[in-house]
Amino acid sequence: EPAPKRQHSPSSSPLQVFVKAKKRINDIYDSIDGYVLDVVRFVNNIPTDKDLLTADQAENIQALQKKVKGIKEVLARNHMKVAFFGRTSNGKSSVINAMLRDKVLPSGMGHTTHCFLQVEGVDGDEAFLTVGDDGQRRSVESVAQLGHALHKEKLDESAVVYVHWPKQRCHLLRDDVVFVDSPGIDVTQGLDAWIDAHCLDADVFVLVANAESTLMQTEKNFFHKVSERLSSPNIFILQNRWDQTANEPEFVEVRQQHLERTVAFLVDELGVMTRAQAEKRVFFVSAKECLLQRLAESRAPGALPPVLAEGFQSRFFEFQEFERRFEECISKSAVQTKFEQHTQRGKSIASDLQTALSGLYDRAQAIRAEKATKRSKTKARIESTDQQLNALIESMKDKIYAMTDDVERKVAVALGE
Ligand code: GDP
Repeated sequence: EPAPKRQHSPSSSPLQVFVKAKKRINDIYDSIDGYVLDVVRFVNNIPTDKDLLTADQAENIQALQKKVKGIKEVLARNHMKVAFFGRTSNGKSSVINAMLRDKVLPSGMGHTTHCFLQVEGVDGDEAFLTVGDDGQRRSVESVAQLGHALHKEKLDESAVVYVHWPKQRCHLLRDDVVFVDSPGIDVTQGLDAWIDAHCLDADVFVLVANAESTLMQTEKNFFHKVSERLSSPNIFILQNRWDQTANEPEFVEVRQQHLERTVAFLVDELGVMTRAQAEKRVFFVSAKECLLQRLAESRAPGALPPVLAEGFQSRFFEFQEFERRFEECISKSAVQTKFEQHTQRGKSIASDLQTALSGLYDRAQAIRAEKATKRSKTKARIESTDQQLNALIESMKDKIYAMTDDVERKVAVALGE
């Protein structure tokens, strides 16, 4: 089997907004780290007996170093997170695979995946699994094996299995998108608990619905719960398995009806977006076809395309349109939620440094001025002593002259001159 094609991120991809912003903010924090280090070194060299800096002030400056280190760690780990939901067998795994352009997750295995699966990029060519926080690598040679491993592990539904997939095989992973697949919302018990544990930090939510039926109450409930916790969640709804209706004569009417109901749910019931926005968040697709097509493209360029149902091109186009809007939405949202706060923190650290340094400067100036006054007082004292001395000498001179004169006179008298 030929090696999969290396997936280059198109430089026009909206994900680049996040990628560039992340690089930029990491660079800025590297500089801040450098400034803090300079100031800490400077402060450490100030003699402690000079009253320039209190112990508290020195400690505050040193604390900035730790703070910057902590923020840098968080920033380096930042990614864009998309969480997929839906009833079992609606095609969540197929959608993720189609987006990753490979059979990464097992699909069609029904209730085997009772736990959360998180797919994230890793350097190198080797794919592997880790479970929870234990960090132990389990190798995955094939998707079937992954399905089997998941089945064997008997994981409970709050567990997270991490699928580390080579970044070079998919630009979405290389650009720091992380995919979360959830247990079917129809089989789970603790919906609230897992929304809290795994979804609150998601930048985008994708509901994979079945276009063969209308939105189910369980699907609606899920988003009600999400929007109780998040003020304006970014939601996309994929009406999947749309290929199944390809041969139905009234599919145009069916589509219109689905679209209207779904838009009404997002706008009127959830109230998380306007009608115009909602119309750009609902897509009629076939994940299965899209994956087949992409697998064929990457494995054997130029080979005959897979045989797909009528209307494939427009479904494929709609899937690509979904991906473009998704990329736009997730990168914009992630930049805001992940970096805005740290930009503010960066500013406040810079201003803390400035305050500390200008405080130091002011105190140094004050000490210098004080010394100068002391010096000038001493000088004045010396000068006045000088004058007194001079006056004394002057007056002594006169006295001495007078005394000499007196002595001379007396001597003259004595000699009878
Ligand atoms: P999940 O349980 O939501 O992850 O669903 P899967 O991705 O495992 O899909 C369940 C079954 O539906 C699999 O056999 C898929 O091949 C099939 N399937 C997924 N998407 C489509 C689609 O768009 N059209 C058709 N016809 N079948 C699909």
